[in-house]
Amino acid sequence: MQIQNMNWLQVEAHLQKDDRAILPLGSTEQHAYLSLCTDHILASRLACEVGEQADVPVYPGIPFGMAPYFTAFPGTVNLQPATYNALVNDVLDSLYHSGFRRIMLINGHGGNSPVQPQIHNWLNKHPDARVLLHNWWAATETMKQVKHFSSNASHASWMENFSWTRLANVVMPDHEKPALKLAALAQLPASQVKEYIGDGNYGGQYQRDDADMMQIWEQARQETLALLNDGWV
Ligand SMILES: [Zn+2]
Repeated sequence: MQIQNMNWLQVEAHLQKDDRAILPLGSTEQHAYLSLCTDHILASRLACEVGEQADVPVYPGIPFGMAPYFTAFPGTVNLQPATYNALVNDVLDSLYHSGFRRIMLINGHGGNSPVQPQIHNWLNKHPDARVLLHNWWAATETMKQVKHFSSNASHASWMENFSWTRLANVVMPDHEKPALKLAALAQLPASQVKEYIGDGNYGGQYQRDDADMMQIWEQARQETLALLNDGWV
């Protein structure tokens, strides 16, 4: 269930029987020919689907993340690490104060992963709480399913191209882009990142059959749901 479809009395009643909540973490950043909100859309959709299935409240996703390397691409939003850490910290504080004790963060953006030390700092102050940061696309079984189709798969390539992240009337290139050297990318300021990566795809085809994509999605759903139900210590 989604928090946007609940009132506070329902949350209060729900907390009597279950202390889990889900918070999706997204980003608004260039995704080549796909939606700028791809990471936000995917994390939020996955969160809503598993939350519905497990009867766990799902908070509205945080649409912005840390994307300093993409700031030369129009439409991108970049939060400073201090801002992002403070934002996540305050949301965790609020959820804890409401009574939630097991909080799953479904993250759709690799650049948000450096928030993990902040989560640990927060946990040190809330030792009875658990926070599970789940990078859904990089999880073992989901990534295995991606590699089953092609090992050349990365940011803004086919692996993020679902019917709900692609845009109407945008035609995808039909070639396969060679994989970029990520170590080289890490050395460059945003203006030169833009020159280096061109359209924004890090490597791979731009689109695959939806039947393939649905296999990946189904795997992600199962893997995320299993963690939501049994991934706590
Ligand atoms: Zn992405």
